[in-house]
Amino acid sequence: MTPLSVYVHIPFCTIKCGYCDFNAYAGMDALKGDYQAALLAEIQACAETLAAHEVVSIGFGGGTPGESPAGHIGGVIQAIRTHGTLADDAEVTLEANPGTSTPAYLAALREAGVNRISLGAQSFDPAHLGFLDRIHSVEAIGASVRAARAARFESVNLDLIYGLPDQSLDHWRGQLQQALALRPDHLSLYALTVEEGTLLHKRVESGAVTMPDGDLVADMYDLASEILGDAGFHHYELSNWALPGHESRHNLAYWTDRDYLGVGAGAHGYLGGRRYENAAHPRDYIRAALNQTSILASSPSPAGRERGPGGEGSPPRHAPSALSDAAPEEAARSDPPASSPSPAGRERGPGGEGLAHFHDDPLETTIADWTALRLRLVDGFDPAAFRERFGIDIEAVLAEPLRAAVQAGWLEWGASTIRLTPRGRLLHAELAVRLIDHLERHPLVSPSRARR
Ligand code: SF4
Repeated sequence: MTPLSVYVHIPFCTIKCGYCDFNAYAGMDALKGDYQAALLAEIQACAETLAAHEVVSIGFGGGTPGESPAGHIGGVIQAIRTHGTLADDAEVTLEANPGTSTPAYLAALREAGVNRISLGAQSFDPAHLGFLDRIHSVEAIGASVRAARAARFESVNLDLIYGLPDQSLDHWRGQLQQALALRPDHLSLYALTVEEGTLLHKRVESGAVTMPDGDLVADMYDLASEILGDAGFHHYELSNWALPGHESRHNLAYWTDRDYLGVGAGAHGYLGGRRYENAAHPRDYIRAALNQTSILASSPSPAGRERGPGGEGSPPRHAPSALSDAAPEEAARSDPPASSPSPAGRERGPGGEGLAHFHDDPLETTIADWTALRLRLVDGFDPAAFRERFGIDIEAVLAEPLRAAVQAGWLEWGASTIRLTPRGRLLHAELAVRLIDHLERHPLVSPSRARR
């Protein structure tokens, strides 16, 4: 059976942090019961899709899924198992906050079937935790890692944020050393970015907060590569490092063009080369899922959200950004209306009876996405894979921007590998923009290969 990953979005948070702009909401705990019912309804509506695949990974992101009752998480896993085939060795990841990851809770999650935990540590500096509005203490990070070990999670990830105001290179070195002292299996590192519409954006605009110099942030990225490499971590994706065998199989599905089902408010899915996106607001989502009406987002979200809270995250959409794509965890954004279907793609989606709808991206977008996502992988990709996917040589489509990137020292282009250089990893976002710009200026003739 074809492998399938399932992303489950849980949009609830204790507080709305000042730096993130994703689809998460504080003060809506009263909706959790209905939301769980809606998730189960959507999964049931996706039974046909689930039955046709083998589910090889499940990722719970948000929001803060680690604040959901373990019984809810177990109920979702059981529903997926009921309607499909969950592989015996499926990776099941949940993103959690160290402040709420008690030993009892983590043990209950493990019992429910979660085998990989991703902890949103973000910083080992109390002042920075305060700046980021985090609800946990430095001590809670160590305690939650120890509790995860005691509960026998197979893999433990820590998220860290760097490039904070007033942060020095030495301070960042200390942060990495503290993280390594906890012996995680995986680390996701994100540069703090200022997203429009966030409180942080207002504070930067008003001059109350000054962000660090870009060169310093780039030096922090290089330092992390060096320190984590020395510690035996494999840098396998722009923002992700793993001990051998602990690479995130779930996130690799996003980066390697594999099918994934997205369930929950604002979740994105990708099936057979086609994308869909659910309505973002929990109330709209609940209403639609329980009534089995369209939960399609009225307009697709902007490019490049690669991750959710806890740091790894929600499925990507469109040109992914790079080093600076780092809005950690998902934050509340204004409620997009969800009553009207997208102009594109009126067909029914994986949720059956209109529960979601696909939208077809232009071939140019699909090609730019595919290439930019593959370039997130440190090992890059084989040009033969491009030909296999699109039926055309990459040389014929993207030679100009890729050759320019080679000239600039951003890219290596060999017979069997195209990949970013260490310098190019810092400039992935810029290259992704150049790819789509080039394709918009040089549209392809036949859209017939947009689908797999
Ligand atoms: S960072 Fe975003 S997703 Fe994480 S707890 Fe804060 S508001 Fe929620």
